[in-house]
Amino acid sequence: MIPDHPQRDYRGVRVLVMGLGSFGGGLGAVKFFVGRGAIVTVTDTRPAEKLAESLAELRGSLSERDLAAVEFKLGGHDDEDFRRAELIVVNPGIRRDHACLQIARAAGVPLTSEMNLFWQWNRAPVVAVTGSNGKSTTTALTHSILSHHVQREGSGRRCWLGGNIGISLLPLVDEIAPNDVVVLELSSFQLADLDRLHVSPAVSIVTNFSPNHLDWHDEVAHYRWSKQTLLRWQEPSDAAVLNADDADVASWPTCGERLAFGLSDRGEPGLFAITGDDEQVCVRLKQFEERVPLRRWLKLPGRHNLANALAATCAAMTLGADLDAVRLGLENYQPLPHRLQFVGEVAGRKFFNDSLATTPESAEVALEAFTSPIVLLAGGYDKQVDLSQMASAIARRGKAVALMGQTAARLRELITQSPDNRCLLSGELTSFQAACEWAVAQSAPGDVVLLSPGCASYDWFRNFADRGQQFTEFVRSLETA
Ligand code: ADP
Repeated sequence: MIPDHPQRDYRGVRVLVMGLGSFGGGLGAVKFFVGRGAIVTVTDTRPAEKLAESLAELRGSLSERDLAAVEFKLGGHDDEDFRRAELIVVNPGIRRDHACLQIARAAGVPLTSEMNLFWQWNRAPVVAVTGSNGKSTTTALTHSILSHHVQREGSGRRCWLGGNIGISLLPLVDEIAPNDVVVLELSSFQLADLDRLHVSPAVSIVTNFSPNHLDWHDEVAHYRWSKQTLLRWQEPSDAAVLNADDADVASWPTCGERLAFGLSDRGEPGLFAITGDDEQVCVRLKQFEERVPLRRWLKLPGRHNLANALAATCAAMTLGADLDAVRLGLENYQPLPHRLQFVGEVAGRKFFNDSLATTPESAEVALEAFTSPIVLLAGGYDKQVDLSQMASAIARRGKAVALMGQTAARLRELITQSPDNRCLLSGELTSFQAACEWAVAQSAPGDVVLLSPGCASYDWFRNFADRGQQFTEFVRSLETA
């Protein structure tokens, strides 16, 4: 195991950033090290055209002189860079057994990641969220409540949002004061690396757990182990907010105080929905036990979002937020794009962009969130996860489904095998435009046309955001036709 090497001064140090990516982490690392005088090289297997957005952002945020000092090796990796570097910042999506990293290890070059560096430099307490689904929504809800909390205190404390949600706090770390609070979304990849530092957050939220990313982790046990880093190093003064409806998560060990959330009341400390009550939830925390009209404050659709809000509220209240901050945080919450996002209504059809449904469970909850007939666009990259539950939800709830990408054939087979299947299946589709047109042709006034792929994006798109954007543009083209 190679330890991380934080140091005060990076002037003249040769830092290699492996994987610029599109989610902010690579960019954050470049900005951080350029600002500290390192000699930075960026390498990525993707060519410059595919990294256009990240490169444009870098050009916009670095001075011409600083940018000129960064060396770019795009469209592939050069082994020599991995031998020569004094520190390598590895993108969390890259497996540690990558051939280039083996070269670096053999040469004794320390490896780190953007999140590990942030953790080593950050002085403020951290609330962090992980889980298989609902991480970003729960993270953003927690941030919204805590922002109102610190604002109402009027003490100048600040609440920061970052991590896997697409914001790197690393370049800002010097601005974060020790009494501020940081809300982070952490992916299993980031957690796998953080474990080497033996650190866990002051307050941890685990939304749920189901097999995912098995192309990266090889085994469910390793995926679970990575997620459990959020609890593994907690101390008794820390708190863990765990999903009581998920038997797996509810059993995860921690030394922190255990709090629960769930869609039915378990009588444990934490926050719970009350069966048959559409307004109130039960808040059972140290200070009090009360019924609170939280469901009235929450504007997001679906029971899954109620679960997310219960978790976020529980964590925020643990850090001192009162019910006014909770109400303001939920009422003023701005929904994140690409999550069951209403795009528009054309010719009586309502279009929803749920491009971020990259797991089968998220497509299932989307199908359950509507009562109208649904024409679905589903399928994508094959992460080797079980799609059978998603297929039976499509068979039960779908009116028609446009099948896309690598998983199209598997989904077709599973849906056809469902005994109660009434869903019409598309033939092979050669483009996303063709998939959208086919879906509209199957729909009638009053229907919902839903992009909720249940799979990650693949070669038709740069990423989930591009997929959602293309869908939105398609709907706009219908509006103006
Ligand atoms: P993540 O960050 O884990 O990908 P998001 O909050 O970005 O989660 O939501 C991603 C997708 O999962 C969206 O399609 C959303 O509707 C769905 N989703 C959100 N919360 C949950 C949940 N608690 N359980 C299942 N699916 C969820």
